[in-house]
Amino acid sequence: MAYKVEYYIESTPTRVRLISRGVNCPSACVKCEDSYEDTYHIFFHCKTTIDAWNAANVWHLIAPSLNQFDNAPDVIFDILQKLSASQVESIVTIMWSIWKSRNLKLLQQVSESTVTILERAKHLLEGWRNAHRKQGSLG
Ligand SMILES: [Zn+2]
Repeated sequence: MAYKVEYYIESTPTRVRLISRGVNCPSACVKCEDSYEDTYHIFFHCKTTIDAWNAANVWHLIAPSLNQFDNAPDVIFDILQKLSASQVESIVTIMWSIWKSRNLKLLQQVSESTVTILERAKHLLEGWRNAHRKQGSLG
């Protein structure tokens, strides 16, 4: 699990990463125009993201790791070590939804509310948990 999430974070095609691979695009954040869109910014530093973490009531779980680490993979690794499985599940699905929202804004100029971002994460998590439960009951 930890390995997969870290791999996912490492491979997220942020603008900073695309530029490092030679793609010609602006480096500014798609959502807030901060000058440097990397994974740390998208998932832990962008204002719209912090609003979502606060609304989901998990910012207090994430913030201590941000004081210790300054890059997204290390922060994620630390969170995975410290939190319960269900806390990790919510945080990972919210991250997925944040990334999805960022892509909608970039590709379709759609601005989503914090509520929309969290609702999508919640639906994904419910679906995932239901599927898991069914599998468990079959075995
Ligand atoms: Zn931003």
